[in-house]
Amino acid sequence: MILNQKRYSDNTNRFQFLQSINQQSFDLIIIGGGITGAGIALDASSRGLKVLLLEQKDFAFGTSSRSTKLIHGGLRYLKQLEFALVAQVGRERAVVHRLAPHLVIPEKLLMPLVKGGSYGRFGTSIGLKVYDIIADVKKEDRRVMLSAEETKEREPLLDENDLEGGGYYAEYRTDDARLTMEIIKKAIEFGAICLNYAEVIDFKYQDRNISGVKIQDHILGESFTFNADYVVSACGPWVDQVRSKVGPLGDKKLHLTKGVHLVLDYNKLPIQQSLYFDIPDGRMIFAIPRGRITYVGTTDTNYNGDKGQVRAEKADVTYLIDAINATFPTVNLSLDDVESTWAGLRPLIHQEGKSPSELSRKDEVFESENGLISIAGGKLTGYRKMAEKIVNIVTKKFKKHSSKELKECFTQEIKLGQYAFNNFQEVKIYTAALSEKLKGTKLESYAANYLVYNYGKGVEDILTDINDSFDEASLIIEEVKYGVENELLYSSSDYFNRRSGRLYFNIHSVLQYQNLVHEFLAKHFTWNESQQKQDRYQLDEEIRNVLHFKNEDVS
Ligand code: FAD
Repeated sequence: MILNQKRYSDNTNRFQFLQSINQQSFDLIIIGGGITGAGIALDASSRGLKVLLLEQKDFAFGTSSRSTKLIHGGLRYLKQLEFALVAQVGRERAVVHRLAPHLVIPEKLLMPLVKGGSYGRFGTSIGLKVYDIIADVKKEDRRVMLSAEETKEREPLLDENDLEGGGYYAEYRTDDARLTMEIIKKAIEFGAICLNYAEVIDFKYQDRNISGVKIQDHILGESFTFNADYVVSACGPWVDQVRSKVGPLGDKKLHLTKGVHLVLDYNKLPIQQSLYFDIPDGRMIFAIPRGRITYVGTTDTNYNGDKGQVRAEKADVTYLIDAINATFPTVNLSLDDVESTWAGLRPLIHQEGKSPSELSRKDEVFESENGLISIAGGKLTGYRKMAEKIVNIVTKKFKKHSSKELKECFTQEIKLGQYAFNNFQEVKIYTAALSEKLKGTKLESYAANYLVYNYGKGVEDILTDINDSFDEASLIIEEVKYGVENELLYSSSDYFNRRSGRLYFNIHSVLQYQNLVHEFLAKHFTWNESQQKQDRYQLDEEIRNVLHFKNEDVS
């Protein structure tokens, strides 16, 4: 059986595969399979390093499936005078869009200006202009300032009594977990080995320097050891936990803040485009329409709880509902209108005396005396530059003792997706053609958008055999098969949450088809009773978490 890295994109032969690489030596081991770890794996493997990435749960289990899902420059950070951060991530928007135009989609944002709001008309006009200039935004995408009437015309749900005008500017929308997955898949193509459900539990040392890691494999229930010249931790909110295994934390520590989003049926908040708006306590939040739903977020509060169990509490959801009702006076939403939620942790760097919203979003690199390199902070949008920074550090050290030829960073040229699109125009044409093709099936009209925005041209491997009775159940099974064969999908929650986004964006389909998926996976992986129980428990727990705010008093 050929079990090389490229071949290993599913978990079926996991035992043989792990045995074949146990005790092997790597140039670089990366701990953490969020966007940061994925980016590092792609950068390092494409330069020529032999890479192993280890994720304790599923890829993007942490913050990278729980963000606002925008590829944005962070307009807000201009107010905090973070020009370098805004310039860097702002420029990265266009790069990431070019690399994955089906997954990083242009999205205009409307910023209504209201009486007593955060930014006046003059401040907004200057702020958005600076944003365009330092982020090198193309002429046709530059900001437009609108009158109160024009703003109301673009968004009829806004309260005209409060409106003073609006700013209209360009950002991009994405799916954070899918983006992470596409980067992981590309890293695998370049030879990286990427394993989910592989938790690093300890380190190996040689002459007091880290020389490898010990993992607990949560699929096989066994431990394995891997050696490496260098080990990088990209563990997001878990960075300090991992750092504390190798030595004292020192002065710089993480400061975790929680951000919550809620999901509504689109018809409950039928906004015409994405909005970034002031709310009564002086903060600003996003409302983003996405197919059959609109989502709204986020909150920003200190967090000291369980990092693996972050969820929206009733108070978080009520805060967002009140904010929506204050901005769109005719919608009158209540807690009952909320279909789903998600909550994530920002792994920020602690600064004494600063409130959650004031903390810098800049990334930070920590190096321990025994060689562990850790990175935390930053933005989803800036993943590529963070990866470049880390891999530059690693290759500089590596070249001192190895004559192996390594390339310079060229991730700005590595297109993401199985059969990449050249530009967004192609994506639109492809989606329209798919939409036509799906008219002959029982799928709903938004299926083409859902499929292309999630899987790109990978849909061709999902829709291999459609006919007039092809319905949502058939689609789900085909998606699951694709996930198992190409994306290391191992559980029902991998599919419903991080591969398809259904847990957030179509929770009805999760409740309706959970048994179907569970039974397919149980048969495919020949699970015993306890494995089946575990799969059901894991998904139930994720469902309970997103609906926790409804039942807070009982659990
Ligand atoms: P994570 O995604 O948390 O990944 C770390 C991984 O390490 C986890 O999957 C974890 O399971 C794994 N791990 C931990 N310990 C171990 C171990 N011992 N062994 C193996 N694996 C381990 N940025 C944007 O650009 N745009 C946005 O719209 C945006 N919105 C946001 C909204 C919210 C509410 C939040 C919280 C953040 C937002 N961000 C946004 C920031 C962005 O999401 C994060 O910067 C980014 O996702 C962090 O990725 P990461 O890979 O560093 O961390």
